[in-house]
Amino acid sequence: MNPDRWKFTQEYSQEVFGVQDDHLAGLMERATAAGLPPIAVSADVGRLLQILVSMTSGMRALELGTLAGYSAIWIARGLQPDGRLTTIEYESSHAEFARAELEAAGVADRVEVVEGAALDVLPGLAAEWGDASVDFVFIDAVKSEYVAYLDELKPLMRPGGLLVADNVYGTGAGWIDEGHGTDEFNRRLAGDPDFEAVAVPLREGVLISRRR
Ligand code: SAH
Ligand code: MG
Repeated sequence: MNPDRWKFTQEYSQEVFGVQDDHLAGLMERATAAGLPPIAVSADVGRLLQILVSMTSGMRALELGTLAGYSAIWIARGLQPDGRLTTIEYESSHAEFARAELEAAGVADRVEVVEGAALDVLPGLAAEWGDASVDFVFIDAVKSEYVAYLDELKPLMRPGGLLVADNVYGTGAGWIDEGHGTDEFNRRLAGDPDFEAVAVPLREGVLISRRR
């Protein structure tokens, strides 16, 4: 696809499918004014997350990399009324900002922001929840750690559960043909007989996989 077509397609997707409420529409502006980086998913990706969560049992979701809570709000909206999202964030200033936004979005009662590095926090959650306990995961923390996250997350996935990852084609800092760290992760999931996986080229690439 020529670059102009690519750009048009991404903008078209935002215009047509990126419909969002006023709170979400203003969230990342407030976040960047507070000094957080402008690296949340776009609204069309947010809607994709909500749809995917709602296609699972929607009881337990997990996110790695909260930032300002933007994607967490979309995920929370796809849960069952008594479902819960746990989202892990390394930077305490991000976690604090996200908690206020989750409150304002009316989903604070179903979302817990856990502070820490994902690889430090995951073993404790695994011990608490047990195997085959998670319906939906959104991976969006350190790109070079995606393969390590997968090792921790695989036993946690409920059969039929969805494991989704952002930035599987790249980030502003580099694309997969430039050595971006998600190539190994993509190939690992694509070749794992316990998952079915595909990536959709929305924004910076979103991988969708289903635990058999
Ligand atoms: N999912 C968010 C964007 C996340 S950006 C959205 O789309 O709205 C990535 C976030 O991961 C940043 O807030 C960063 O501080 C956080 N992070 C960095 N290292 C981490 C780690 N080891 N574990 C968990 N979060 C981490
Ligand atoms: Mg991302």
